[in-house]
Amino acid sequence: MNAPDTLTAPIDVAAVRTQFPVLAQRVHEDKRLAYLDNAATTQKPEAVLKVIDGYYRFDNSNVHRGVHALAARATQAYEDARATIARFCGHTPEATVFTRGTTEAINLVAYSYLLPKLEAGDEILLTEMEHHANIVPWQLVAERTGAKIVVAPVRDDGSLDIDTWRERLGPRTRMAAFVHVSNTLGTVNPIAEMVEMARAAGVLTLIDGAQAVAHIPLNFHDLGADFYSFSSHKLYGPTGFGVLLAKPEHLDAMPPWQGGGDMIDTVSFEGTTFAEPPARFEAGTPHIAGAIGCAAAIDWVSGVGLDAARAHETHLLEQTMSAIADIPGLRVLGTAPDKAAIIAFNLDGAHASDISSLLDMQGVAVRVGHHCTMPLHSRFGLTGSARASFAIYNDDEDVAQFAAALRKAAKMLG
Ligand code: PMP
Repeated sequence: MNAPDTLTAPIDVAAVRTQFPVLAQRVHEDKRLAYLDNAATTQKPEAVLKVIDGYYRFDNSNVHRGVHALAARATQAYEDARATIARFCGHTPEATVFTRGTTEAINLVAYSYLLPKLEAGDEILLTEMEHHANIVPWQLVAERTGAKIVVAPVRDDGSLDIDTWRERLGPRTRMAAFVHVSNTLGTVNPIAEMVEMARAAGVLTLIDGAQAVAHIPLNFHDLGADFYSFSSHKLYGPTGFGVLLAKPEHLDAMPPWQGGGDMIDTVSFEGTTFAEPPARFEAGTPHIAGAIGCAAAIDWVSGVGLDAARAHETHLLEQTMSAIADIPGLRVLGTAPDKAAIIAFNLDGAHASDISSLLDMQGVAVRVGHHCTMPLHSRFGLTGSARASFAIYNDDEDVAQFAAALRKAAKMLG
C-alpha cells in the first residue's frame, strides 16, 4: 500500500471523534457504534453543522437576486464557498460548477458536452470498476447517437489492466471516463499517468473523484484532466451538493443543459441569451446551505490535513486486513498495491446481507449489496458483497470491534 509521507504528524483521533456527535451514540441495546459505511456517506463534524445552522438561523435568503442585507450575505457566503472549494481543488472559481453531486456532474458533461459532438461509431472508454453513475449517463447518450461503450478490464487483484486501457484509447474515442478510487475495490487508479496517456492519444478525460476527494489531495490544474467530479457528502459535508471541475474552454463551449432562473442573461419570447459559466449550468435556486456546508467541511478537513488523514486510514486498512486475514471462508475483493481504506468481502456460503445484519447487531455499520457496481461484481462472479469503509474518525477500537464481529458472524454462518 502506498502510504503517503510518513513524516506527516499523526492525527489525534480521539480529539477528532469528539467533533462528530453522531459517533457517540449507542445502538441495538447499548452497543458501541462502529460506523464503517463511509464510502456511502461520511458523518458531519460540529464545524459543518454549526455553519449550516447559522446560515438558516441568521442569513437565509435566496442568492444573486436581492439587494437586502440577508440576500447580500447569503450571496457572499455562497460565492465565498465557491472560492474555497476551487482553491482546495487547485482550480478557478469561474470553472467550478455546483451540482447536486457526482451523478449530476457526470450527466451534465454527458448531455451538454458530449452528446452534441457524438456520432455513430464514436467510442466512450470506461473501466470495469466504474460506479453506475459513470456508466449509465454515457450509455444513455451513446444510445441516442449510435456511439459505443468500450470497457477496459480489471485484473484479479482489482487493479486496472492499464495496458489494455491504453490500447483501447482509439481514434474514435471521444471520452475516457474513469474512477479515481473504486468504491468497491478501494483501488486507487494512477490518474496522472492515465490523463497523460489520454492526452497523448488526443482523448478527453473525466474523472469520477467521489471516493477520492476526502482522502487524496487534488490539484486539478496540475493534473490536466478535462473534467473531475465529486460529492460533498463523502467529504464530511451535506448531501445533495457536488462539484464539477472543468477546463474553462470546455464550459465556454457547452450549451445549457437545464433551463430556468439564474442561468440566463436576457429572456424574451423571441429568444434567450445565457449567462457565462458557471451560472449557465446552475439553473434555479441552488443548494445554498450545501455549498456553504461543503466549504466548511473543506476548511475542517484541511485543518486535519489530507496527508495525515490518508496515513491514518492506511494504518486502519493494514490493521483490519491483518485482523481478519485468518477468518475461515473470507474472500476480500480487491487487493491492489495502491488501495484506499475500503474492504468489500464475502464469506463462503453466506449471503452478504446475512453477514451485514449480524455485524449490525453488534454495532458495526457496513454496507451490503452491489454498491452500484454490478458489472464489477459480475466480473468476480458475484451478485454482491459486504463493505467496510473507513474515514478520518475511525479508530483502532472500530477495527477491533469489526474484526471480532466478523469472526463471530463467520462462526454463526459457517
Ligand atoms: N461514483 C462513485 C465512485 C461513488 O462511490 C458514488 C457514490 N456511491 C458516486 C459516483 C455517486 O455519487 P452521488 O450519489 O453522490 O452522486
